[in-house]
Amino acid sequence: MAESFPFPTLLIFLIILSGLIFTMGYKLRDDPEAIKLASSDFGHFHRYNPAAVLYPASINDISSLIKFSNKVSTPFSIAARGHGHSTRGQAMAPNGVVVDMTSLKNYRPHVSGISVNSSKNSGININNNDNYADVGGGQLWIDVLHATLEHGLTPVSWTDYLYLTVGGTLSNAGISGSAFRFGPQITNVYEMDVVTGQGDFVTCSPQKNSELFFGVLGGLGQFGIITRARISLEPAPKRVKWVRMLYSDFSTFARDQERLISLNGRKQRNALDYLEGSLMLNQGPPDNWRSSFFPQSSHSRIVSLVTKRGIIYCLEVSKYYDEHTETTVKKELELLFKGLSFLPGFLFEKDVSYVDFLNRVRSGEEKLHSQGQWDVPHPWLNLFIPKSSISDFDAGVFKDIVLRRNITTGPVLVYPMNRTKWDDRMSAVIPQEDVFYTVGFLYSSGFDDWEAFEEQNEEILGFCDRAGLEVKQYLPHIKTQQGWINHFGSKWKAFLKKKALFDPKRILSPGQRIFNN
Ligand code: FAD
Repeated sequence: MAESFPFPTLLIFLIILSGLIFTMGYKLRDDPEAIKLASSDFGHFHRYNPAAVLYPASINDISSLIKFSNKVSTPFSIAARGHGHSTRGQAMAPNGVVVDMTSLKNYRPHVSGISVNSSKNSGININNNDNYADVGGGQLWIDVLHATLEHGLTPVSWTDYLYLTVGGTLSNAGISGSAFRFGPQITNVYEMDVVTGQGDFVTCSPQKNSELFFGVLGGLGQFGIITRARISLEPAPKRVKWVRMLYSDFSTFARDQERLISLNGRKQRNALDYLEGSLMLNQGPPDNWRSSFFPQSSHSRIVSLVTKRGIIYCLEVSKYYDEHTETTVKKELELLFKGLSFLPGFLFEKDVSYVDFLNRVRSGEEKLHSQGQWDVPHPWLNLFIPKSSISDFDAGVFKDIVLRRNITTGPVLVYPMNRTKWDDRMSAVIPQEDVFYTVGFLYSSGFDDWEAFEEQNEEILGFCDRAGLEVKQYLPHIKTQQGWINHFGSKWKAFLKKKALFDPKRILSPGQRIFNN
């Protein structure tokens, strides 16, 4: 079984590796710079050195490496690394080989006999007859956005932050405020090329090699490395009406959110395009690093509202428009907002370009970078909570644990999604109810106070457990085998079967710690 090597196995491995480095040349590196980069991530909690890093120049390089590991008597582990924005070492390969997927940026993915338009970035190819893009697994979503916009097209399902790779988000789900209507990113993929854990190059879709297709989507990198994904596209809007409304009562806030996401047909003209929500706590200015939204002139009255109530819920929505819908979008929003029960006088609007809206987190990132606050520990916790448990969660977590501990630095997101927009054949795990909430505690901490955040995370999980709330972790970070079995629930058997089928030597993505806790 792959992963860590006891001495002298490690010694033998290093000898084999030197041979491999010689054969593959500069593509496989074991110098300190390469090792350092591949042994860290956005979380800054784990640091596991790989023995080497592969910078593939073609898909063949990936396939050869995996086949080689399968052949040796002690296979070594291999992890695809997208942009390394995991928080718990998921893209690391202790003593194994990390594959830097971004080095394939300009590699034109194999596309079966169909004529496509290459964008400036040759790793992204757009078919504007059938509205899809063939995109390399190591491409960043921001680049996909720019490339598709050149053709007046766009993907419809997004993450809040676009400097993540296609392979990285498809291995999880890829969610944001667009998921209630357009589903997570994994449900907007027509086809993929995958190099399996045995090194085989396989094209898969719901019709062809479907077991691999559904396994890989949300599969935490366990069955294969995504080298190409065919993403569905639609005509791109130009601008966005972006609105936030404040609530002091959680049940009213949740009721309004649920009402708004009940209008969710993909073609339904009067539906919103995006809906999220967040907590506002008594911690200074109402804006946080992820977005600056509220007009300066309203800051003081918002702060005094939050101070008075201790906790305020912010409902955030947007609706896209272009020159054809410019005159109707305002009316449609007014109709949608009729009957909502936000606090009078606490509705705020902005009108921004489509790109600025989708890329809204970037400026906050740049600010944090400039203050040295980006590369700090991120003890994140992301949960999916069934609708029937969300008020208990509010009472036990937001109004008790979070207020009592008062350590939250960073956004806390809370918004509902529709289960019907997900596909149960995929590996991603969600609660059983038709509507479920995502709650994301997106903290930043210092290097010497992160334990307090981890303790809070443990207390939250402990509360959910004791209260019998059927929560599931998103971007799961689970420490025991039994924990993983519980996490996957009825999907565990199929997950195990696929692992045996596509990665029998358990080589891929050891950093998830599913098979090698
Ligand atoms: P990595 O961290 O590099 O890899 C993640 C996992 O996927 C690893 O197990 C890795 O081995 C595997 N993997 C990577 N590439 C491939 C591939 N080509 N084929 C197979 N497996 C692969 N998530 C959301 O859903 N919505 C959000 O709004 C959102 N916002 C975020 C904002 C920030 C600032 C950050 C840091 C993260 C955010 N995330 C969000 C989480 C993010 O989607 C995941 O952490 C994702 O895994 C990161 O992508 P990455 O390209 O950096 O992947």
